[in-house]
Amino acid sequence: MSTVVVALGGNALGNNVKEQLEMVKQAAKSIVDFVASGHKVVVAHGNGPQVGMIKLLMDAGKDDMPLVECIAMSQGYIGYHIQQAIRNELAARGINKEVATIPSQTVVDKNDPAFLKPTKPIGAYSTEEEAKQIMAETGKHYMEDAGRGWRWAVASPKPIDIVEKHVVKKLLDDDAIVIACGGGGTPVYDDSGAWKGIDAVVDKDFASAKMAELIGADTLIILTAVEHVALNYTKPDHKDLGSLTVADAKKYEAEGHFAPGSMLPKVQACVGFIENGGKKAIIAALEKAQDAIAGKSGTTFQ
Ligand code: ADP
Ligand code: MG
Repeated sequence: MSTVVVALGGNALGNNVKEQLEMVKQAAKSIVDFVASGHKVVVAHGNGPQVGMIKLLMDAGKDDMPLVECIAMSQGYIGYHIQQAIRNELAARGINKEVATIPSQTVVDKNDPAFLKPTKPIGAYSTEEEAKQIMAETGKHYMEDAGRGWRWAVASPKPIDIVEKHVVKKLLDDDAIVIACGGGGTPVYDDSGAWKGIDAVVDKDFASAKMAELIGADTLIILTAVEHVALNYTKPDHKDLGSLTVADAKKYEAEGHFAPGSMLPKVQACVGFIENGGKKAIIAALEKAQDAIAGKSGTTFQ
């Protein structure tokens, strides 16, 4: 029986509670399709808008809730919706299986160079003036985000391990469906032998690939808003790719075909998974998940 790690992008979750409850139903269909065709499944997911919302609501109270705690909260909130939707879909198809969310901790290196240059904008938008005031008062770093305003910029270090990998594997061996690595997982580092949280956001694509590698999954499938990885994306000579070798992926990356912050981390995560011994990695559209695993849609890395 093969094991699949399915990474869900932001488009699978929507922007608020109502949208998310609706949209996870589609994701649950794709996930239960995998289960029904005999795969063991771990579901990972993003948390960009959700963690921003949680942070904003928390900060409206008296205390400044650290980002790392907000990430942990987002894993519970999103995991709850996903596990409920999967259970409902399983019940509708008469499949009897357990589903559990593990709010997992992703180990990062405190000395990762990413901590020197925060690149990931999150949370509420401020004006330049407000941002400068917050920076002066708190020492936080703010950045201009694609013409939309100023946002808190946090580091995005690479995942090096996942603390709960063994429990995820045990649940899979017991035939459960597991949701883990939400929002890339809660970032922690080894503080002289004790795990300690650190404010950062691990990219969910890299965290999913790390989970796939650590549990010995056969396939990593990253579900997003496009059906294929493309060359010259949206340009007149746009070309969708059905498959990619590691060597070609690296060549196209060097030529600048994959946008940083969106397609690039997905391609790099797939390449990393294959280089670390994974059999197959796929980038595909959420609604074409089943076709993608059968090789009829998506971009397959081998
Ligand atoms: P997710 O929320 O699933 O992580 P992202 O928006 O981060 O999704 O990344 C997927 C997006 O990457 C696509 O919707 C597309 O707009 C963009 N993209 C950038 N470069 C490419 C490319 N070369 N091929 C396909 N999509 C690309
Ligand atoms: Mg993304």
